[in-house]
Amino acid sequence: MPHRTESESRKLLRRLQATLADAGAGQERLDKITHLIADSMGTEVCSIYLFRDADTLELCATEGLNKAAVHVTRMRVGEGLVGRVARSGRPINTADAPGTRGFRFMPETGEEVFSSFLGVPVQRLGEVKGVLVVQSKQAREYSEDELYALEVVAMVLAEMAELGAFIGEGEALRAPHKNQVMLRGGVAQEGVAAGQVWLHEPRVVIARPVADDPEAERKRLHAAVDRLRLSVDEMLRMTPAHDGEQMEVLEAYRMFANSKGWMRRMEEDIDRGLSAEAAVEKEQSAARARMSQVGDAYLRERLHDLDDLSNRLLRLLTGQGTETGATLPENPILIARNIGPAELLDYGRKLKGIVLEEGSVGSHATVVARALAIPLVINARRITTEALNGDTILVDGEQGVVHLRPDDTVQAAFRDKMAMQAKAQERYASLRDLPAEALCGTVVRLDMNAGLMADLPSLKGSGASGVGLFRTELQFLVRSKVPRRGELAALYARVMDAAEGRRVAFRTLDIGSDKVLPYMKPTEEPNPALGWRAIRVGLDKPGVMRMQLQALIRAANGRPLTVMFPFIAQLEEFTQARDHLMRELDREAALGRVLPETVEVGAMLETPSLAFAPRHFFELADFISIGGNDLKQFFFAADRENERVRRRYDTLNISFLSFIEQIVGRCAETDTPLSFCGEDAGRPIEALALTAMGLRALSMRPASIGPVKHLLRRSDLREVRAVITEAREMGAMTVRPALMEWLKRQG
Ligand code: PEP
Ligand code: MG
Repeated sequence: MPHRTESESRKLLRRLQATLADAGAGQERLDKITHLIADSMGTEVCSIYLFRDADTLELCATEGLNKAAVHVTRMRVGEGLVGRVARSGRPINTADAPGTRGFRFMPETGEEVFSSFLGVPVQRLGEVKGVLVVQSKQAREYSEDELYALEVVAMVLAEMAELGAFIGEGEALRAPHKNQVMLRGGVAQEGVAAGQVWLHEPRVVIARPVADDPEAERKRLHAAVDRLRLSVDEMLRMTPAHDGEQMEVLEAYRMFANSKGWMRRMEEDIDRGLSAEAAVEKEQSAARARMSQVGDAYLRERLHDLDDLSNRLLRLLTGQGTETGATLPENPILIARNIGPAELLDYGRKLKGIVLEEGSVGSHATVVARALAIPLVINARRITTEALNGDTILVDGEQGVVHLRPDDTVQAAFRDKMAMQAKAQERYASLRDLPAEALCGTVVRLDMNAGLMADLPSLKGSGASGVGLFRTELQFLVRSKVPRRGELAALYARVMDAAEGRRVAFRTLDIGSDKVLPYMKPTEEPNPALGWRAIRVGLDKPGVMRMQLQALIRAANGRPLTVMFPFIAQLEEFTQARDHLMRELDREAALGRVLPETVEVGAMLETPSLAFAPRHFFELADFISIGGNDLKQFFFAADRENERVRRRYDTLNISFLSFIEQIVGRCAETDTPLSFCGEDAGRPIEALALTAMGLRALSMRPASIGPVKHLLRRSDLREVRAVITEAREMGAMTVRPALMEWLKRQG
């Protein structure tokens, strides 16, 4: 086979473009393309395999193999050489295909006679859409140049496939972005929503992947990169010097924007016939492919930076971008790879649902979505590549399922589900002003958890008695720098105003472990959950805690104030924290400020040790709130962030419930008010068990108050208690089955 020069590969691209421009059905185009590539490259075989579903490839066109195999030959990802290329996203180039690991013989194609094999992925931005293969009888490895030419052609094919250039008969030739897709992800905020897709970062479409005039394309690229550099410099200039993380990202941008290697590779792609934007995207694809293979978190972040930078460059080159003129649809469902808390707060309550390709249950975006009660599904793989602005989308935040472009049957079923939910909501709303009084006459106080201003409108609507846990760290987490005392005081005052005299238990800053402030230097700890966090930070470096306490005293401005300290493990930590508060009260008094009318000082019981503290602790604490999320993780030694071990231990485990009962007993000895504010308080069956063990106050997400109250009002706690006692006597591990059985009997 003759050596291909660069201009020849450009010639190939130009011929390809002419073929693509020809009218004709998708199949005809594909046939012409395989013919053209085989002819130009002087190989006997050229075949195109495309994905027909998430894991099966289908032979869609061929020159040289048996035509009867088209749309018949299929293989799974990873199967055969073609399947291996699809899985790895990397080419395979071999002189001896039958002797290569993974080779699969496909008699229907008659391919045993071909010795050489070169397969490259047809991919767009790291998403593999198929595989392009050339084969020849002569045993030889294809040259670097040939490999390169084929990769470039494959990339153009991917772009054309994206634009729907190959729509035709057969599963694999369906119109892209037209079919119904169901994606599974993880639940980060419950709820169901129906609406239209709103892409946080609209996809840039490359309508012109091939260009005739490399000189002109180089000029375009240089002009765009110059503009990009200027904008990065400008961003750097605007960033405050202490904003370390933002600076780091921008420095990485600058490094890439000035990188000679990056520029050189893109110029080479242009010389080989790509347009400037296609060259940028080719580099971006390569970076994405590397991203999925890099284990090192720091390096992965930098590749993310390069990806963002490439996006900016693409927008500059194509004139497309966030400012596309599109307006937010009526019921927007936000789709993004990931999103920061501040950006999410900017959208506010306008969003009906959120679907993220990445994200995590403990992320700050999740915190905000929860505060806004917007259903959120995370880890929905491929959502940003599958969804188009305006597509119909259904988000099932109960199951972690997303339906994109659903058909009528799915829509009807979903509507039923939403109607059922709405009915349940109505039922809960009708209970709003009624007490959470069980059939036996026991009244339970139901409070809500909050942490952002966005939470507070729920206070009235949910029927909560007050705020049992105000997580003050959320205000710190959604900002890029430490808030000032004045800002905090104003904010806490607004919270108290919104509460209209209802009790709000402000928990002092609980950072560390999963809650890392963006502007705090991360400390490398082998075991962050057991590390320097919450009150430990507050006592060792009291500056921020004192500032917070001052802000709270000023915000109260004569009103009652409730403060609780997180993660108290022993009496001394509580006395020290309490002393800080007392000193701040004295100081504020000396400054002539109005002191709170009353001050309640409580502790969160989140470590088993505190349940065994001396009696004096229980006397000194004005109240105690069980942080069940942490308490459970330490009781069972099971990381609350680790899905694998977390689910192993049931809250309704007899040992855990017995432990709760002990805590209730210790508080009763000293008449210390006790509440429970972990997530389990908001799960109706768990709430029932907790109250049966003696708890009389629960604090939960606002949306849980209705369901919990509904169940409590229909239950006799003495009976629940009897069910638990019996299960314990029988030696059961958990009371869940017995309780479920009892509930069933109650109807
Ligand atoms: C808890 O641990 O149960 C708790 C309420 O605190 P957080 O979830 O904020 O750690
Ligand atoms: Mg906690």
